[in-house]
Amino acid sequence: MRASEATTYYFNKAADQLELPDWVRKLLVTNKREVTVQVAFERDNGRSETVLGYRVQHDNARGPMKGGLRYHPAVDLDEVRALAALMTWKTAVVELPYGGAKGGIGIDPKTLSKREMERMPRAFVDQLHEIVGPDSDIPAPDMGTNHEVMAWFRNQWEKYHGFNPAVITGKPVEEYGARGREEATGRGVGTVAVKMMKRLNIRPDQCRTAIQGFGNVGSHAGKYLHEAAFPIVAVSDLSGTYFNAKGLNIPELFSYVIKNKGTLEGYSGAEQLPAEDLLGLDVDLLIPAALGDVITKENADRIRAKSIIEAANGPIDPEADEILAARNITILPDILANAGGVTVSYFEWVQNRQHYRWSLDRVRQELDRTLSDAFEQVWQESSTRNVSLRTAAFMLAINRVQRASELAGWLI
Ligand code: GLU
Repeated sequence: MRASEATTYYFNKAADQLELPDWVRKLLVTNKREVTVQVAFERDNGRSETVLGYRVQHDNARGPMKGGLRYHPAVDLDEVRALAALMTWKTAVVELPYGGAKGGIGIDPKTLSKREMERMPRAFVDQLHEIVGPDSDIPAPDMGTNHEVMAWFRNQWEKYHGFNPAVITGKPVEEYGARGREEATGRGVGTVAVKMMKRLNIRPDQCRTAIQGFGNVGSHAGKYLHEAAFPIVAVSDLSGTYFNAKGLNIPELFSYVIKNKGTLEGYSGAEQLPAEDLLGLDVDLLIPAALGDVITKENADRIRAKSIIEAANGPIDPEADEILAARNITILPDILANAGGVTVSYFEWVQNRQHYRWSLDRVRQELDRTLSDAFEQVWQESSTRNVSLRTAAFMLAINRVQRASELAGWLI
């Protein structure tokens, strides 16, 4: 199933519960705008490289559209469509005053030098600066991009439109970025994990946890949960799975990865297993925090975890979702679980617009409150309606976007 079909499948499941008529569904699933642009930039060897860049703007009923910019070889228009729609539902679930968008370039950032990493977003901005802006569509980091890319993006955009740091979020802290933005997605995953385990009556010190992916999201989620006394028994990346039945030394792994250029390769403080073994471990909590579409009908039977928190976007495809639901595995969906990143992006945008700076404590407190409130609402909705957490989250989100569309006069 293609990524956009999977998102539409989850949408329709919730829309069925809400008995939403077809004409309303059509408005809510159709993208406002899809743009594909040529991104031609200079390679260090003096030749020009041409790649495709995408921006999909899904919905703006609840506010300016918001969503990250991804650099990955698998990026194509279909994936960006799926991720743009997920952003609409994500911002609605946590009640941020935004709609949803997403962008990306189908390239492996590891093949680019630092100068090329800078030239590429500048060429991208040259092509689409007119359709992004602080009141219309606000990009942010995603897989393969970082705060430096955000700074170059902003700098290029300001050449056309003048000073306005709120055009993009996830900027370096010294360049109008928010304190706590980098840790935010992982921290948010940790926050909702603690709440969900409490609801499931699993004590933190007994919640054996496995995390797939130890990049920005996985490592910060691991750090947060380790501090909350969760035994993290396994983490993995492309180099393998690192396992310790009593719990890994997460602070050591955290600094190892920073020193080791972002990879766990060569870490000798744990038993090493093949990368793909992580998904099949017998744990209480599994956190896929890497790519999308990693749990499918091909491997769903191998999952032995009691619960799953989707830190990545779209890690479970609909067929696998049904298989896991039939086995009573509790799944906290991406649109709530990884909303910490866009939540702190919102705080950054607010600070930029007020020319004011919040302390790290304030950012963390407001993040905790936002995600905790959203978690409680989704949990309640799921219990009262007797639907999965995913369907409950989509139902709340769809209701909010539908209401805003009505108030905008688009649904009569
Ligand atoms: N890329 C992140 C996401 O998928 C963050 C988006 C943002 O901060 O706007 O939620």
